[in-house]
Amino acid sequence: MPDINQPVVYTPAIKKRILGFLSKSDLKSSDWSDDDIKDIRKFIRDYYRNITRKCFYCRKEISLRSVDNCHVEHIIPKSEQIQFMFEPRNLCVVCSDCNIIKSKKEVSGQIETVTKNGKLYTMYPRSSNAFIVVHPHFDNYDDHIHHCGDIYISKSKKGSYTIHICELNRKVHEYGMDSNPLTQSELFDIFHDIMNSDDVVQQSKYMNKLREHFIKAG
Ligand SMILES: [Zn+2]
Repeated sequence: MPDINQPVVYTPAIKKRILGFLSKSDLKSSDWSDDDIKDIRKFIRDYYRNITRKCFYCRKEISLRSVDNCHVEHIIPKSEQIQFMFEPRNLCVVCSDCNIIKSKKEVSGQIETVTKNGKLYTMYPRSSNAFIVVHPHFDNYDDHIHHCGDIYISKSKKGSYTIHICELNRKVHEYGMDSNPLTQSELFDIFHDIMNSDDVVQQSKYMNKLREHFIKAG
């Protein structure tokens, strides 16, 4: 099941303000930080953090009240597709590190366009297939990524790409393996996922990391 089953629903008053905001002729993606929509950002952030209570990408804690470690994430970057800045299915919450690292990296394979009354409109993708990244509104995270502590193992191409663009194994890369031995069931899960992963490079990388772990654990 995806983390988010029900996207945020805007009140009529907020919807009206969003439409006005998006119709500005000089609209830039950096306008997302404008003070006059601070309450709308809070509305979105509070809605998604109440549902997920963790960073979508790394599954670690986010701030429960502060904005500092609970950022509204635009899955398709707002700098790429500014019209999806308030699109409910394009939003979730993530931690500061994932937000900074993922930044503007490409996530979507296909954006549909439709013509209405002679005008061309871009449509937000309606299914998981349109994305090359694991998507909080369409995908079950556990089908794509296994994580145990600071180790993330891909279970699919999407999982592998998401681990790559968010640098999810950043702690292991920077600080090495945690010296606390893993439990038997954690080890079993990791081995199972390594054997079932379709990513040979990841497989050998984690086998090496586990070897290190056994040496450290004694
Ligand atoms: Zn994160």
